[in-house]
Amino acid sequence: RDILTRDFLSYIVKEEEVEEELKRIQDALDQVHSELHQTKEVVKKTVNKQNADIFEAHKMILKDEKLLMGLEKELNRELINAEQVVRNVFRRWSNRFRSSENEFIQDKADDMDDLSRRIIRELLGYKRNVLEQLPPNSIIVAKRLLPSDTVNLNRKNVQGILLEEGGYNSHSAILARGLGVPAIYCQNESILNIKRKTALLLDGERGKVVVNPDKKEIGRFETKVKKFKKQKDLTTQKSKQKAETKKGKRILVRANASNKEEFKEAIKNGCDGVGLFRIEGLYLEHKTAPSQEYLTRHLKQILKSARNKEVVIRLLDVGGDKQLSYINIEEERNPFLGLRGVRLLLKHKKILRTQLQAILGLVGEFNIKILVPMITLPKEVSEVREVVKEIKEKLKLETACEVGSMIETPASVANIDKIAEVSDFLSIGTNDLIQYTMAVGRENMSMAQYYHEGAETIMKLIKDVVHAADKFSIPCSVCGEIAGDEQYVEPLLKAGVKELSVSPSRIPFIKEKIRKISL
Ligand code: PEP
Ligand code: MG
Repeated sequence: RDILTRDFLSYIVKEEEVEEELKRIQDALDQVHSELHQTKEVVKKTVNKQNADIFEAHKMILKDEKLLMGLEKELNRELINAEQVVRNVFRRWSNRFRSSENEFIQDKADDMDDLSRRIIRELLGYKRNVLEQLPPNSIIVAKRLLPSDTVNLNRKNVQGILLEEGGYNSHSAILARGLGVPAIYCQNESILNIKRKTALLLDGERGKVVVNPDKKEIGRFETKVKKFKKQKDLTTQKSKQKAETKKGKRILVRANASNKEEFKEAIKNGCDGVGLFRIEGLYLEHKTAPSQEYLTRHLKQILKSARNKEVVIRLLDVGGDKQLSYINIEEERNPFLGLRGVRLLLKHKKILRTQLQAILGLVGEFNIKILVPMITLPKEVSEVREVVKEIKEKLKLETACEVGSMIETPASVANIDKIAEVSDFLSIGTNDLIQYTMAVGRENMSMAQYYHEGAETIMKLIKDVVHAADKFSIPCSVCGEIAGDEQYVEPLLKAGVKELSVSPSRIPFIKEKIRKISL
């Protein structure tokens, strides 16, 4: 949750402790100042001077006499702890800027919020990017892993993930699948007492973790891993070939890939294109909204390996468990039922426009389709299409770029004919569709059984969606996690699905499963 809106440490400071508390603030300001300097230098080298200037401006704010005096005055007057002092003073400044008539001054409010977040984090001793510095052969043990935690993850060094919260469909599980490493969810706080350097064995198949295994256990495990690898190699050999059922019906197996590594793995495993590119990685953990130039450059790097393949780029799907520090969202009691996906994009049009300009600018070079997340009403697709049209005209783009709808809410299924009518294709996101249909949080492990039942329950909804897609002669794929789970392949094909989009590491297994099915 955003550090500016949540409750944290609050205490009274005695008069004789004021000096000490003031020093805490000063030290935090100095530390943030030096971090900003480092970031500025990196951005100058890797992005451009203009973006680097933002950090220079932030550095100057930290040295502003008026601000420093304000902090000291607040502390002396209120006798409250440093974190609260910083929050109050910066909040006042930011409110003052926000209520200005002048747009330029209004923008400064975001700078104040951003700085305030940094200083409070520093005061609270939050260490950022620990996941960036993981040593080789690491297993991550944590309470929960948010998508924003994983952006800077050193992927090469992760061997497994052990978490207290989450489940098969959570974003951390999707990440693990993307990495091809086991992830285990263990609803037991004691895992958080596991000390660094403890040896762990994770059995992703059985959902078991062994702490400090003995030689015999390690031996048993090694045999199992060898067997699994052999089977995987055999399946992978055939995965470049197309997947057809026993009766010769072709099923497309696309990939859900979100970064360079996953794109490469997807191509290696013979994907029939990328059915879901989650763009969020380019947005999370940014200090400011990424520029068009930044997006273009990074998209190019990621898409490079799939130059001849079709790639479906899903527009930014934040809200829910993915929050952006530079968009001021009022804290929501239930963010999964709030400003998420397309709703947020339509509210923050600047973010939508910059994103579409970057994506549409690459249409000639790559085979791109655009997918709109979290649709509930047909008018949401139409409104996005309007913006797409406007930008295409601005860019004088003549090449067509299809726009599809993500079907992941019960409302979108209820409105499916009207949505299909204004969409070039459909993609069913079962992770959210199950969550919203079964009224069960996708990260709520204690309700996991409802997720399994949910997969069966939503087959009827999937049939309705496929039927509408056929009626309007548009393609329809399933891109939620159940598409990559062998046990659901047959029911999905029976429901009429002809395209699946799965985690890259699952492609060989799903293709193999399809070959065994006779419908
Ligand atoms: C889904 O909801 O099924 C989906 C693919 O989107 P995400 O998992 O990113 O919410
Ligand atoms: Mg979703």
